Amino acid sequence: MLIVGNWKMFRGPDPAALAGLDAVVCPPFTRLRDCVEAGLTTYAQNVHWDKEGAYTGEISAPMLLELGVVGSLVGHSERRQYFGESDETVGLRARAALAAGLRVVACVGETIEERRGGKTEAVLRRQLSVLEPHPDLVLAYEPVWAIGTGQTATPETAQEVHAFIKSLLDAPVLYGGSVKPDNAAALLAQPDVDGALVGGASLEVDSFKAICETAARIPS
Ligand code: PEP
Repeated sequence: MLIVGNWKMFRGPDPAALAGLDAVVCPPFTRLRDCVEAGLTTYAQNVHWDKEGAYTGEISAPMLLELGVVGSLVGHSERRQYFGESDETVGLRARAALAAGLRVVACVGETIEERRGGKTEAVLRRQLSVLEPHPDLVLAYEPVWAIGTGQTATPETAQEVHAFIKSLLDAPVLYGGSVKPDNAAALLAQPDVDGALVGGASLEVDSFKAICETAARIPS
């Protein structure tokens, strides 16, 4: 069971308050070093595919590794929605990061229009087509309509989609989208839900710890 906290562009909690927690944190770039120094398993929120170059605002896998960062998210829906991230660039980022020795959490998920239009499977098929199985690759199913909205997918929907994703690509699949202490147990109990990617609730020490404790109680 893997629990990953995505702090987005928030300063986030004091890393020392999370010491010893069995979880991954994805702080903004300015807090990566603090998290690494506090002994947390630290991932970036994004990573470029080149080792270095004229890519203002980007960061490379070797730079992250030098800092003690051990993984990265790629393809978060906020990157796709606001920063022009495409399936092609998600594939480039994931491949380069894995080749450099970072672990990767690649995010996929449909918008509400795509779900209502019956396109969920087609969208996931397209998003997954740029990824290949790798021992250090984990997927996160994050329906866009559930991120930061308080509108969680039901455990049955999550299970159904996770099983579909695994039929296309053999990798653990985290669920993300308004995971909170009060809904985590039901979601994590689903057989094909291998953990959670937690946004808002990872910004509060108590709620993040409660989700991690719930995960620790679920038999693997
Ligand atoms: C996320 O940022 O990946 C996320 C799932 O956010 P939230 O938990 O706030 O919906």
